[in-house]
Amino acid sequence: MPANALCWGFFAHQRINRMAVFSLPPAMLAFYKPHIDYLTKHATDPDQRRYVVAGEAPRHFIDIDHYGPPPYAALPHSWKAAVECYSADTLNKYGILPWHLERMLQQLTSAFIAKDGKRILKLSADIGHYAGDAHVPLHASSNHNGQLSGQEGIHALWESRIPELFADAQFSYWAGQAQYLEAPRDFIWAAVLGSGLAADTVLKAEQLLRGQYPEAARYAIGFRKGTLTRDYAYDYTKMYNALLGDMVMRRMRASMLAVASLWYTAWVNAGQPDLRGLAV
Ligand SMILES: [Zn+2]
Repeated sequence: MPANALCWGFFAHQRINRMAVFSLPPAMLAFYKPHIDYLTKHATDPDQRRYVVAGEAPRHFIDIDHYGPPPYAALPHSWKAAVECYSADTLNKYGILPWHLERMLQQLTSAFIAKDGKRILKLSADIGHYAGDAHVPLHASSNHNGQLSGQEGIHALWESRIPELFADAQFSYWAGQAQYLEAPRDFIWAAVLGSGLAADTVLKAEQLLRGQYPEAARYAIGFRKGTLTRDYAYDYTKMYNALLGDMVMRRMRASMLAVASLWYTAWVNAGQPDLRGLAV
């Protein structure tokens, strides 16, 4: 995936971080709720870093199909073992999302142990971003923008256009209570493998629909922040969302629960420190 590829759009990333807060237990909510605007605003910081921080881009995806057919049994889930098998260069080339997310969880646990409020917030916002990316099917496929199948633009259609048009009005955001993750590594990999498997559906559904809509009906000219834009047409987006069932909503909600569960697990593993009145 090239460095300029998108992640869940701004809109979805911000919703995911914001709504994850409401899945937390009261002892964590006491700290997270007053900072909910920070977590929302900084949900897309990792995307902005992609252009200035070397090594940032591969943290947002994994082209899992590079490693053979599902279930990718030969791909080690431990970073050390994966490097021994494939080399760090190869792993970086095809994306390191799941390994990076696990590392961030350890960093957040350390920040809780140190009761470093500022760092807890920063790492929480970042984890929200990467855990969200882990649930986007096209972040786990080498055909990340339909460039291998003549479907360029599908990335933004799935992760930006559908949420922007339908999420607030039609999606149910309640994700349930944060869960303690006994095996966070397995949990992270299950999310990524689920994304990899769903990528096929994401691509095939659009291919099917595209056959029924001439190009002129697929796109509409509109305004975005005062600029003329060419975007997927409302009707086309609506039909695609319907064809996918509730996939985008389910994966957005799964992202929210994953984010809350990762935050919660780090806090529990740090010994459940008292977060009341923590300076930031
Ligand atoms: Zn991203």
